[in-house]
Amino acid sequence: METILYLAHTESDGSLGKAALESLTAAKALAEQTGGTLVAGLVGEDVQAAANTIAGAGASKVLSVSGADFAQARYATDAAAAEALCKAAGATLVVAAGDSRWNRVLPGVGHRLGGRADLHITQVNGAGDISVTRWFYRQRMEGSFTRTQRPWLLGIDPGTQTPWQGDAGDTVVEAVTVETGDARTTVTGVKAPNTDEQTIRPDANVLFVAGAGWTKKQADGQTHVADAEKNILGFLQAAQASLGSSKSLVDLSSEGGEVLSFMTHLNQVGQTGATPRHPKGLSTCCHGEEPHVVGWRFINERRAVNLDANCGWAQGKADVLYVADAFEVMEKVNALLAE
Ligand SMILES: Cc1cc2nc3c(=O)[nH]c(=O)nc-3n(C[C@H](O)[C@H](O)[C@H](O)COP(=O)(O)OP(=O)(O)OC[C@H]3O[C@@H](n4cnc5c(N)ncnc54)[C@H](O)[C@@H]3O)c2cc1C
Repeated sequence: METILYLAHTESDGSLGKAALESLTAAKALAEQTGGTLVAGLVGEDVQAAANTIAGAGASKVLSVSGADFAQARYATDAAAAEALCKAAGATLVVAAGDSRWNRVLPGVGHRLGGRADLHITQVNGAGDISVTRWFYRQRMEGSFTRTQRPWLLGIDPGTQTPWQGDAGDTVVEAVTVETGDARTTVTGVKAPNTDEQTIRPDANVLFVAGAGWTKKQADGQTHVADAEKNILGFLQAAQASLGSSKSLVDLSSEGGEVLSFMTHLNQVGQTGATPRHPKGLSTCCHGEEPHVVGWRFINERRAVNLDANCGWAQGKADVLYVADAFEVMEKVNALLAE
């Protein structure tokens, strides 16, 4: 019988993040489908609040590695904590959120335990032979596979599961001791942009993509980059949208062109960029060429604004194409949002 370890770290406020609750949905599904035992393993400074949150999830026990050393992400301590929890639980399957903290350590932990790790899992299936699903070749092919090695560690891609919801309650937590004496890295703090400067918001309802057209000469023969910045930032702020870009726009800075100050290569969506997941997407001043649109694979409802009625979006790549001037459209949209 499989023993499924649900592995989670707490956030800085002691809670479990959305990605952690999504991976709990996958862990529970595996436990139910395989008839296995679900064990929770929590890592963080103080995990009691998190343990209480998942009281109704049906874990047979809740193990923890906690203390100040485990408050922040650090390879040595996170890997040691995960390894200890896997051993204490006798885990054959380990399910964790595929966030940067766990993705960094799961392969190493799998190696230490003589098991295997797979990341970017989008689906688990415990019926019959246990199998998992993920995308390959820059999200072009979806593959389903199984493994015989145990423990099998799975990093679940955020945005692929419904976050677990259930009753909270008082939970007894069993502490697992981990020696951290050989941790040579000291975490001195976290540097992060202010939330109003943050343009990449993975949990946003809307992805707003800006293309190179925003910096090109317009009908009056002039560029209007300051207006473009105002329109784009105004929409991001009002809609709390996430900002994506075409490659041409982010490449302009290296080509000496006039650029949008807040745009970086991290915003690039496409074949050589990111493949974000959002319920809706709005593309503006972007031509919609295939190497860009392949990054829209997981955007459910797609709309685009382009002056060109024959642009790529019109070739079956968008649900709705507004043949219009994006400067005018976004100014109007922002005014409506401000009302
Ligand atoms: C191997 C390879 C990998 C690539 N990877 C990527 C990738 O990961 N991501 C990516 O994006 N690209 C990628 N590309 C490049 C891609 O093919 C396109 O060149 C790029 O996406 C074009 O960017 P764009 O649409 O912003 O610019 P442009 O092609 O210059 O289009 C600008 C658009 O803006 C419109 N426009 C201008 N003014 C306005 C206005 N006022 N209102 C409305 N519309 C307006 C124009 O009609 C035009 O359609 C890759 C290419 C290759 C060969």
